[in-house]
Amino acid sequence: MGYIGRFAPSPTGPLHAGSLVAALASWLDARASSGRWLVRIEDVDPPRCQAGAAERILAQLAACGLHPDEPPLYQSRRTDHYQQALDTLRVRGLAYPCACTRRDIDAALAARGLAHQRHVERPYPGTCRAGLGGRAARACRFHTEKYQSNRPPAPTSQASAATFSIATDGVRWLDRRLGAQHQDVAAQVGDFVLRRADGLWSYQLAVVVDDAEQGITHIVRGEDLTDNTPRQILLQSALGLPTPRYLHAPLVRGEDGEKLSKQHGAPAIDETRPMAALGQAAQVLGLPAAPPGATQGEGLALWALAWARIYNPAP
Ligand code: GLU
Repeated sequence: MGYIGRFAPSPTGPLHAGSLVAALASWLDARASSGRWLVRIEDVDPPRCQAGAAERILAQLAACGLHPDEPPLYQSRRTDHYQQALDTLRVRGLAYPCACTRRDIDAALAARGLAHQRHVERPYPGTCRAGLGGRAARACRFHTEKYQSNRPPAPTSQASAATFSIATDGVRWLDRRLGAQHQDVAAQVGDFVLRRADGLWSYQLAVVVDDAEQGITHIVRGEDLTDNTPRQILLQSALGLPTPRYLHAPLVRGEDGEKLSKQHGAPAIDETRPMAALGQAAQVLGLPAAPPGATQGEGLALWALAWARIYNPAP
């Protein structure tokens, strides 16, 4: 099977130092594996998207010499596919409508003695699993507990069995950089949203459907997304889709130690000086500095060799 990797930016603003690290890491991994590299514009959440950001990101990538092997895929044009996947899950009894508002959820959790704490995610209490009781459907959720505990035995190849498994106590998977990972998705995350109350598709569902559609074999992205991976592995399995290999790359942190992000006003990379921006991204990835005067092509080639030595890309 040939290697296919991807970079999947949300067009909420231009590329900044942090998103360039994810772009460069995924490009280097594809290049080091003689694979293909695709770009997917994750514009499933229009209220968060910024006009012109997708075009700017593509221009910034091009200025950095990171050229996708196919025209980019836009998630906003793929809603029929997300609907089909949701229909499949519903037919399999693995997705259900939910009528709960945030206030309903808080009240149900409080009734169980689970007080609201800032920044602590509490699993959905499962109120609508047994039906809506006449209330109007708002969102649609994945039946995590049911799938995690009663997963029908699926034929998995030996290769994938070595890199992930699903059992009653959760999902285990092997990250190429972070090593062995485990999350009890049912206990820690619960029944997560597939389609939101505002009718928009969740990141989890869209990313799983599109990674499969594009034939992605290797996902390289920022470490902040690590704890989404077990949810995505569950969805892949529930939809009968293959599970790619994962590598979560280091994050760029601001002076306050927080992840650099568009929401926190990270400045756009300066695409008029692409080698400086690439050099900084390479440094975050633990790659050597390019010699003074190296061209962009020479720098990228040097970093791809160094990348291959560090991360030993799987065939
Ligand atoms: N669109 C997501 C982001 O910009 C990345 C999704 C992914 O790589 O899986 O944070």
